[in-house]
Amino acid sequence: MAQKSIYGLVGYPLGHSLSPLMHNAAFKALKLDARYDLFSLKEEELDAFFQDLKEEESPIFGLNVTVPYKEKVLKYLDSQAPFAQKVGAVNTIVISEKRKLIGHNTDGPGFLTHLTELGVNPQNKNIFILGAGGAARAVISVLCLIPERPKSIKIYDVDQSKAKQLIADLSQRMDSSLIKIVDGIFDSDMCMTDFLINATPIGLKDSDPVLIDEKFFNKNMFVYDLIYNPFETKLLKQAKEKGAKASNGLGMLYYQGVLAFQHWAGVDLEENIKNQMRQALEGGLKK
Ligand code: NAP
Repeated sequence: MAQKSIYGLVGYPLGHSLSPLMHNAAFKALKLDARYDLFSLKEEELDAFFQDLKEEESPIFGLNVTVPYKEKVLKYLDSQAPFAQKVGAVNTIVISEKRKLIGHNTDGPGFLTHLTELGVNPQNKNIFILGAGGAARAVISVLCLIPERPKSIKIYDVDQSKAKQLIADLSQRMDSSLIKIVDGIFDSDMCMTDFLINATPIGLKDSDPVLIDEKFFNKNMFVYDLIYNPFETKLLKQAKEKGAKASNGLGMLYYQGVLAFQHWAGVDLEENIKNQMRQALEGGLKK
């Protein structure tokens, strides 16, 4: 990895992000003269920003990308890793010494690695996903592409056309025959659900409702909320109270970050560096 280099997160609006804490902790632990910044860019600023990245003297060697640009940045890339191509979205860009931009998607593998850490196997499970946005795109793709495929995936989004568009798009690049779009959260679907995944922003605010009736939670169910701040959403609290296994999305954030860093560095990180990244994340949440 180049010295005195800059890495960062592109999105808009960025608000509070935990990514600088995690990546700067790794730079510090590795004694690298590099830092991770936030690039809050309006859409009309993207062309100039990505043009500048191509300049030989640019100090930027790696980026993360977040809402609303994970698909919009594809046009600036020189190439994409195979999984990113399948997903149709990138959250990580490696910039080579020759200023070539290579896109990766570490959200999907980050989610999957966290499931593995939790000892949860999606194979033959009936999965219900709330939301059909960018995060759901990565989660659905990874679930469709792994050998341990679920039995079924149901997707509900308030905007049904968005769910239809997402699946039509993914269907061009992967077998999506296990996916069904539903137009509500019905008893008949929920009583069959083994895994419930919240990929909506509902739960971020104290005033948000719980989208699932608590009668559906049971001890055989696994509930994953991609939200990590609040650390325990009302959805997770209710699920746990009914005996369900439940997790927030902090592990997904951590693993996508580790994988992104490894793409930039071109090497795997040692456990003690990864631990420092995780501690920095957890410390950032407590503040
Ligand atoms: P997004 O692109 O805005 O997608 C969210 C989707 O949920 C939208 O299609 C939205 O529809 C839909 N939605 C909103 N309210 C709903 C409801 N009541 N019922 C069903 N669907 C509803 O956002 P995203 O990037 O996918 O992120 C989703 C959540 O995941 C956020 O809370 C984000 O912080 C979290 N996330 C976590 C990680 C992690 O590493 N843990 C990574 C990425 C994202 P409308 O657009 O019509 O409102």
